[in-house]
Amino acid sequence: MIPPEYTGAKIRQTFIDFFAEHRHTFVPSSSLVPGGDQTLLFTNAGMVQFKDIFLGTDKRDYTRAANSQKCMRVAGKHNDLDDVGRDDTHHTFFEMLGNWSFGDYYKKEAITWAWQLLTEVWKLPRQSLYATCFEDEKGQIERDDEAAQWWHAQPGMLPEHVLFYGRKDNFWEMADTGPCGPCSEIHMDRGLEFCNMQDVPGHVCEVNGDCTRFLELWNLVFIQYNRTGPYSLEPLPARHVDTGMGFERIVSVLQGVDSNYKTDILAPLLDVVQELTGHTDEQRAADITPYRVIADHARACTFLIADGVVPGNTGRNYVCRMIVRRAARFGGKLGLHQPFLAQVADKVIELYGDFYPELVRNRKTILNNLTQEEERFQRTVEGGMAKLETLLERLKAEGQVTLPGEQAFELYATYGLPLELTRDVAREQNLAVDEDGFRQAMDAHRRASGAGETFGEMGGEDAPFYRDLLIDLQKAGKLPADGVAYNPYQWLEVEGEVLAIVKQGSAVDQAQPGDKVEILLPETGFYVPSGGQVADTGSIVSVKEPRWEVRVEDVRKPAAGIIVQVGEVLSGLPRAGDMAIARVDASRRKDIMRNHTASHLLHRELQAVLGEHARQAGSLVAPDRLRFDFTHPRGLTSEQLEAVEAGVNQAILNNYPLKISFKPLQKAIAEGAMALFGEKYGEVVRNITIGEPEIYSNELCGGTHVDETGDIGLFLIVSEGSTAAGIRRIEAVTGRAAYELVQRRFKALRMASDLLETSPGQIIEKVQSLLEEQYADHKQISLLRQKLASVEFMERLGSTETIQGVTLLTATLEDTDADTMRQMVDQFRKRFPQNSVVVLATVQDGRPSLIAAMSDDLVPRGLHAGELVKFVAQPLGGSGGGRPTMAQAGGKDASQLEQALAAVPNWVVEHLR
Ligand SMILES: [Zn+2]
Ligand SMILES: [Zn+2]
Repeated sequence: MIPPEYTGAKIRQTFIDFFAEHRHTFVPSSSLVPGGDQTLLFTNAGMVQFKDIFLGTDKRDYTRAANSQKCMRVAGKHNDLDDVGRDDTHHTFFEMLGNWSFGDYYKKEAITWAWQLLTEVWKLPRQSLYATCFEDEKGQIERDDEAAQWWHAQPGMLPEHVLFYGRKDNFWEMADTGPCGPCSEIHMDRGLEFCNMQDVPGHVCEVNGDCTRFLELWNLVFIQYNRTGPYSLEPLPARHVDTGMGFERIVSVLQGVDSNYKTDILAPLLDVVQELTGHTDEQRAADITPYRVIADHARACTFLIADGVVPGNTGRNYVCRMIVRRAARFGGKLGLHQPFLAQVADKVIELYGDFYPELVRNRKTILNNLTQEEERFQRTVEGGMAKLETLLERLKAEGQVTLPGEQAFELYATYGLPLELTRDVAREQNLAVDEDGFRQAMDAHRRASGAGETFGEMGGEDAPFYRDLLIDLQKAGKLPADGVAYNPYQWLEVEGEVLAIVKQGSAVDQAQPGDKVEILLPETGFYVPSGGQVADTGSIVSVKEPRWEVRVEDVRKPAAGIIVQVGEVLSGLPRAGDMAIARVDASRRKDIMRNHTASHLLHRELQAVLGEHARQAGSLVAPDRLRFDFTHPRGLTSEQLEAVEAGVNQAILNNYPLKISFKPLQKAIAEGAMALFGEKYGEVVRNITIGEPEIYSNELCGGTHVDETGDIGLFLIVSEGSTAAGIRRIEAVTGRAAYELVQRRFKALRMASDLLETSPGQIIEKVQSLLEEQYADHKQISLLRQKLASVEFMERLGSTETIQGVTLLTATLEDTDADTMRQMVDQFRKRFPQNSVVVLATVQDGRPSLIAAMSDDLVPRGLHAGELVKFVAQPLGGSGGGRPTMAQAGGKDASQLEQALAAVPNWVVEHLR
C-alpha cells in the first residue's frame, strides 16, 4: 500500500502547496495546444506558457509561479515515441512540475527550496542526492560558482556530490539567440540494484552516465544572459528561474518502484487492460510492452481530445489519430479486437479528473471519439496490414532491408496506416522504413493538393529594439512604468504626443509621404489583434499646423508595454514630438463588434443544436464577416443550419444586455465560463456574459462587443463546410453586411421576376412551370429528331449494296443516340431478315460510337458482329463487343471513321464462308 502522503495526487498537490507557502501563484496548466504560438505543435515543457515573459513581450501580475503542466513530446526534435512502451520511463504525454521566478528570487532560494522539498518534506536520503553545476568546457562562459556555493550550503549535502558539467548537460538556451543561462540538476543514486548494465564489462555507474542507477530528478535553469551572437552573451537586467521536475519520475521514486508504470498514476490503466484480456499476472509480465504502450497512449489521447485535438489527417489531429491507432494495434497483439480504449480512458478520467476538470467536462466527447476512431481503423486496417505484410515478404525475399518511402506513404494515403505503425511492424521483422522518402512523398502530395505549410516563423525579432525604446521613454518620463495605456473598449479617439516614429526597424525624427511607419503614442484605443478579432484601422493626424496624416492599417504589440500603430504617411511630414489625434475607424469597428458578439451567440446556438461537443476551434472576426471553426464530426443538415441561424436571430431580437467583468480565471471557470481552446489567459480574465438575469452565454474574451445583442441587427449564415477531419467551419455576416446581402438577393429576385414577367412571390411557381414546359419541349424535340433520323434512314435502306449475295449497309448518322441506332438496326433486320449486314456510326462530342448487326443465317457462315465491330473500332482507338448478331463499340478518334467503314465490304468478303 502507498502511504497517503505519497499518492500521485498528493505528491502533485504537495509540490504546489510548498511553493504557494513561499508566495508563488498557482497557474493552471495551459492547453496542450500552445496559445498563440505557431512554432510549436504541442506544449512540450512547463515554460511554454511563460516564454513571452522571458522574451520580454508579455507581463504578468505575479513574479513567482508554480504549476503542473500537461506536456506532449511526440513529434519533431523531442520525439520519444520509439522508446514509449519499450522502457519504463518514456512517455508521449507527461506532466511537468515547475516553479518560476520572473525577475524575483534567484539561485539561493531556488536551490534552498528544492533541497527542502526533497529532503525535509519528501524525506529523500541526503547522502543519495547529487547536484550538478555548469563549467564551460570551452572556457568562454563564467563557471557557475554561485550555484555550487548554495549547494554546498545545504544541510547534509556531501561536498563530493557537487559536480561540474559542460554545455550539453548544464547550459540552457531557448534558441540561437535570446535568453539563456546555466542550469543545475539534482540527481539521485538509487543504488546498485537499479543499474541495468551490471553485466557490461568496464561499465561504471555515474551521474549523467549510461545506466538507470542515477536518475535526474529536477532541473533548475537560471536565465541570466541574453545571447546576441555565437560568441556574445549580455547579462540580463532581470534574471529568471525556470525549473522542471518530471512528475512521473518523482512519483516512481517516492513510491519506491522501478518503473513509472508501477506507480498509482499509471498502473491502474494496465489493470483495466488486464481485466479486458483476462491475462494472469505472468502473462501480463510477458506482454508488458503492449500494456505499457496502451496505458501511455490512452492517457495521451484522453488529454488531447479534452483539449480539442480529435483524430484527423493533418498536424495535431494526425498525431492524435496515430496514437489511437498505435494503441489499437498493440491491443490487437493482446487479442483485443473490439474497441476498448474508451474503457481505459474512463480510468484516466477517474485518476486525473480532480486536478484536470476538462477531462470530466469532455468525458462523452473523449469516449465517443476514441471508439469511432478505433472502428474507423478496424475498417481500413485489415487491408493495409495485409498489403504491408505482402510488401515486407517480397522485400525480404529480394534481400532488401528497407521499405521505400513512397510505399509507406501509399499505405498511409490508401489504408490510413500511419508511418509510425508501418515502422513498428517493419521493425518487428527487422526491416527499416525510408522515413525521408515518406516525408518527400507526403510533401509532394501536399503540394499537389494545395495545402501550405502549417507552422510559420517565430515572431518577436524586434522585441529588444522596442524594449530599449521603452526604457529610454520611461527614463525621460514620457511613459509610465507599465508602458502604453491601452483601452480599445472606450477610447476610439485619443490625443497625445508622438513618442516615436519607427521606420524600417529604427527610430527616425521625421517621415515622408509614402513612408511605411510605426507610430508610438502614450495611449491608444486601436485594438491589438487577438482572439481572432482583427486589428482596427483609422488615422493619426497632427493637432496643429503643419498638417500631416498617417493612415493606420494595422496594430501590433512588439514587446511588453509597447503598442504601435502601423501604417503609411498620406501627407505632410510627421515628426517625433508632434501632438497628434489618433482616430479608430468607428463604423468599421462597429461592424467588427457586431461580428464578435454574433460569434459568441453562434457558439452558444451550435452547442444548443448539435451538443456540448461543438466547441470553438478557431475564429476570425473581421468587419465584413465572421468565420467560426468548431468540432463536429459531420456536415450540418439544412434543418440544423436553419435552427442555428434562427436561434442566433432570436437572441438578437431578445436584445440581451452584455455584461463585462474581470475576475480570477479559476472563479470564472467555476461559474461556467467557456475558456476557448488554444487561447492564452492571464491570471485575471475578462468575462463576457450575455443575458440577464438568466445567463444565455458566458465566455472569456478580450474582444470588443456591442452593448446589447439587438445592435447586431441581423445574422445570416453564408456557408458551412469542413476544414479538417472533425472540424467544421461556418461563415456568416451581420449588420450592414447582412443588410447588403439581403439587398443584393432581393434585387436579383426582382430582376429575375421581371425577366419572367411575374411577381417575386410567384417566382417559384413560375420557374416550376417553365421547367415543366422545357422538359416537355425537350421530349418533343428528341421524338422529332428520332423521327427525322428514321425517315433519313429509310431513304438509306434504298441504297444498300450487295456483295456475294449479302445486303450490306454502312452509314454515319448525325445527331443520333445509341437507342435510336438500335431501333434503326431493328428496322434494317426486319427489312432484310436474311443475308444482311449493317454497321451504323454516330459522333457525339468528337467521340464515335458504333453498332453492328447481321442476320442469324450469316453466323454459321463465319461472320460475327462482335468481331466486325472490333475491326471497325480499332483504327478509332476504341474497342467493343457483343453477341454474334449484334454488338456495340466506342472510340476516341472520329477522323478515321469514314475509312474504317469503307473497309467493311472487304471484311465481309474475307470472313464469309
Ligand atoms: Zn550502472
Ligand atoms: Zn470572443
